[in-house]
Amino acid sequence: MPPIDYNRYYSIITDHNYIRHFGQYDDRYRQTVHQLIPWKRFNEDFEHLPNNDDDDGNQMDRRDYCLIRLLEYFKQELFSWVNSLKCDDCNGKECTLLNCRRTNDSEYYCQMIEVYKCPECSAIHEFPRYNHAGRLLETRRGRCGEWALCFAYICFVFGYDIRMVNHVDDHVWTEIYSDHQKRWLHCDPCENSFDNPLLYECGWKKPATLIIANGMYECRDVTWRYCSEWRKTVRLRSQLFDENRLQTLIDQINRRLQSKLSSSEYNGIVERWLGEMVELIRTPDQDIRQPSDSKAIQGRISGSIEWRQSRGESKHCYHEFDLNQLCRQILYDCQRDEYSVVYSDSKKKSTIMKGWQSGCYESCHIFRMIEHDWQMCYLSRQRYCGQKDIGSIRWRFRLPSNHSIEWNRISILVQGRTYESGVIELCIILEPCKTQLSFNLNETFHLNRNELHPATECFDIQAKLMFGEGEIAWQHAQLFRQKLLPKNDSHQHLFTISID
Ligand SMILES: [Zn+2]
Repeated sequence: MPPIDYNRYYSIITDHNYIRHFGQYDDRYRQTVHQLIPWKRFNEDFEHLPNNDDDDGNQMDRRDYCLIRLLEYFKQELFSWVNSLKCDDCNGKECTLLNCRRTNDSEYYCQMIEVYKCPECSAIHEFPRYNHAGRLLETRRGRCGEWALCFAYICFVFGYDIRMVNHVDDHVWTEIYSDHQKRWLHCDPCENSFDNPLLYECGWKKPATLIIANGMYECRDVTWRYCSEWRKTVRLRSQLFDENRLQTLIDQINRRLQSKLSSSEYNGIVERWLGEMVELIRTPDQDIRQPSDSKAIQGRISGSIEWRQSRGESKHCYHEFDLNQLCRQILYDCQRDEYSVVYSDSKKKSTIMKGWQSGCYESCHIFRMIEHDWQMCYLSRQRYCGQKDIGSIRWRFRLPSNHSIEWNRISILVQGRTYESGVIELCIILEPCKTQLSFNLNETFHLNRNELHPATECFDIQAKLMFGEGEIAWQHAQLFRQKLLPKNDSHQHLFTISID
């Protein structure tokens, strides 16, 4: 275990809060917001809502509704996510990080520039980490910090009260005040997530330890909005930092921030905070708070699979099946949860690989389900997935590079079953040309050697599991569904790759 850096827990309180500069921005940035955001359209759409009700039948407020539309628009149309830079000179080749350079750009509050190098043409590309929302309206890219800051500015321009929210374990989002509901609403632009505070703890499995909201004139510990089991959080915090020291720091900051406010402004802020404390207080019988529906616990959707994988939410196994070694067949048995690699030399024993993950190249939101009551097993999306979440799994097969190895075609059969509106989308991706060939579930597909580009080195089989209905949408797309048979019964293969 690395030693705990106690100061980290106090530093997120004292860190600079860039939303406090919004009021000093040049007016042209306000105009940019009005040009970029179809605010009028959101308002018109509100007029046409049937009864203006939300999903639960409550009367929807116009400003809350526009916020939901803005979150969606921001993610889908406006901002893009940056993992590492892509080279402009050679068709978007992924660059590698060389170093981070300190800088002091007072115009756009940039203190750090990430420097990338293209592996192909050696060109150097820079990614300055701006903390100026106006500048970000021009670049419109970044990671969660940039996303949240720029989103907060847009809300600020449309007259909302805003906060930047920091999770000490590195994620940033916003809270926007609803005048209608008289409370702060969790809004995460990276995730297009609205009023869904248990997303991190229940969806991402990231415990709420210390979460600080920084507003224009206040700094608040809002951890309790984001935690599902307060006793657990209290225990965890006692190991990490001193609550008294934390509170002293917060008090100091608030005194400084509020010193120039008029008494009516000050009273307004205090009154709102009292209301918020009532909301955050838990009585002992409310130890565990559950997300209200399955949507509340979706996994993280921002960032590429690689980025999420680095945070443990998607799994990269990078296994490649090598078709060089006179391998004739690759089979997967879901009941035994094992792959067998069968060789053309009948005297050579098949290789067995345990676990569906051991043979896959990459997977996201997939798990192996066993239904004991129905005696069935299959791979499906994780239980927390909703209708809109896509589960994906990929296997990679390296083709024989030696021309002396005889083969004419590869036959691929992927079996499974879908229910309701569940879908399993299958395709073959040829590397390195990235050509995609789609094929159908439960039908044998032939990959003919004479139809392949000679430069083809390998191919991936990709399955995407999606849609379905209601709470159990995740169950409506089942890969390799098969009956649990008595132990000694014969193998059943619902995934077969054969080489002829
Ligand atoms: Zn390049």
